[in-house]
Amino acid sequence: MKLKALEISGFKSFADKTKIEFMPGMTGIVGPNGSGKSNIIEAIRWVLGEQSARDLRGTKMTDVIFAGAANRKPLNRAEVSMTFDNSDHYLKSDYAEVRVTRRLFRNGESEYRINGNQCRLRDVVSLFMDTGLGRESFSIISQGRVEAVFNSKPEDRRTIIEEVAGVYKYKQNKDKAEKE
Ligand code: ATP
Ligand code: MG
Repeated sequence: MKLKALEISGFKSFADKTKIEFMPGMTGIVGPNGSGKSNIIEAIRWVLGEQSARDLRGTKMTDVIFAGAANRKPLNRAEVSMTFDNSDHYLKSDYAEVRVTRRLFRNGESEYRINGNQCRLRDVVSLFMDTGLGRESFSIISQGRVEAVFNSKPEDRRTIIEEVAGVYKYKQNKDKAEKE
């Protein structure tokens, strides 16, 4: 599975439709302070199903919608799509290319789509579950979290490593089985 493209429109500072295509190898996003680098990462977390407005530096979810600028009116809709090359079918989908979309309107209405078909948040979450890319995963580590990881107790840090390695879910199953 490979990340191919990210399309952002009306999300935070990205009023105009912006498409970022990811080439093979490593991609770095650079820019001056306040230019929208963190907003790009937040767009990725959002389309993967992030439900916490606070973790997206807002107070309510509609805060992610472009709120206007000096000579630009606010918008009524935020939309983010992320496209993966899934020719290895790492994601459990028959599609060789998977495109996930999330939309939110100012009246609070929201919508998720997988390859254009409307679906539930739960479907998006389950598509990425155990892939290392889900909304709860450690594949995205924010500025503040780096410190939290380094300052955590050894036992907690071990849990993080187990989760990244994909061992954690087996331990949870084992604990559950032992209790039964
Ligand atoms: P730094 O280098 O300081 O980390 P950055 O490149 O990560 O900066 P961001 O935090 O992604 O920058 O972008 C911040 C900008 O996004 C601010 O100018 C802020 O006003 C703008 N912004 C955030 N939410 C919205 C919104 N809903 N509508 C319009 N602009 C927004
Ligand atoms: Mg930033």
